Amino acid sequence: MPRNQEFETRAIHSGQGADPATGATITPVYQTVTFTQDEVGQHKGYEYSRTGNPTRVALEQCLASLEGGRFGFAYGSGMAAIHGTMQLVSAGDHVVVADDLYGGTFRLFSEVLPRFGVRFTSVDATQIEEVAKACEPDTKMIWIESPTNPLLRLIDVAACGEIASRQGARLVVDNTFATPYLQNPLALGAHIVVHSTTKYLGGHSDVIGGAVIVDDEEMANTLQFTRNATGGIPGPWDAWLTLRGTKTLALRMRQHEHNAARVAEFLLERPEVARVYYPGLTDHSGHELAKRQMRGFGGMLALDLAGGEAAALAFCAETQLFSLGESLGGVESLIGYPWTMSHAAFPPEEKRRKGITEATVRLSVGIEHVDDLCADLERALDAAALAE
Ligand SMILES: *Cc1c(COP(=O)(O)O)cnc(C)c1O
Repeated sequence: MPRNQEFETRAIHSGQGADPATGATITPVYQTVTFTQDEVGQHKGYEYSRTGNPTRVALEQCLASLEGGRFGFAYGSGMAAIHGTMQLVSAGDHVVVADDLYGGTFRLFSEVLPRFGVRFTSVDATQIEEVAKACEPDTKMIWIESPTNPLLRLIDVAACGEIASRQGARLVVDNTFATPYLQNPLALGAHIVVHSTTKYLGGHSDVIGGAVIVDDEEMANTLQFTRNATGGIPGPWDAWLTLRGTKTLALRMRQHEHNAARVAEFLLERPEVARVYYPGLTDHSGHELAKRQMRGFGGMLALDLAGGEAAALAFCAETQLFSLGESLGGVESLIGYPWTMSHAAFPPEEKRRKGITEATVRLSVGIEHVDDLCADLERALDAAALAE
């Protein structure tokens, strides 16, 4: 028996043996709809690419290995993966959700799924007793993200997992921000992990995708059945691009984190910056929990500009290396304005309750040289100060 391989090795080899048909070292893009059968019902494991495709299977096995689960399912987007996960509940079921969620997930849970009779209660999951209190006899699922977007709040995965298990419910963790390199929710007691692979896993801002990873076979069967029944798969090219990105996740995450920590230190020194949110800072509310349940603090951070809305808008307009845009987790640095961009779907009072204001700016720190990134931020802060 070979010893359990390390993360970096699994990222490059899990699910990615030489191609059985040709020996191709790199998993080919199986750009085919169908697979020729020798006789009726006699095939090599593949029939039709919605049901199964070898390029997609390679990605799924790799992602499952990186999350420490036995079964992976790739979807055409993170939202398709989240919707796919919700096929595990039925009309009448109750779901407890953290109130600090990706905007698209909030929209699905507040405007689409209630039409199908799924009931949601949202709670401040940083207060773990709130999660327990919100559970009802029909609660079948608890849904959290950690760290959260954009203020990087930490939620105790193990404690939520215990509440879910006690309740006979399942804990789902959207692990997009942390990535499997820094956090493995299944090992902490979660039952289901979801990803927008669009972000760090793909890592190059060139392909949309999503994934669900579970260890339980019955759940896996339901996910395969419902994904095949509903059809939210990625194409083989997208699966291939995502798999290529995933190979370098460890290298990239180390550099993202190194750069984010330096950027956080830089911003702390600047008088134009009122507050910096980064889990690696010892005064961050989730710092101790991050040290317990993560292997690092990641590449995302947020800040409040002392000059309020005008300064924040000017800052966002002035950075050059940090492109102003939605998304995160690519090799290139991005800057975003949560108030009207990523969190536009939340009502203003809801944003304020979460701690997001018109002065809040989010940074996805890329893997460029950190000195250039700090120089870009410095110049933009100077320009923003003039705008006040
Ligand atoms: C982007 C994102 C999603 C949605 O993923 P898409 O690939 O854009 O559909 C879900 N959750 C989190 C935390 C995200 O950042």
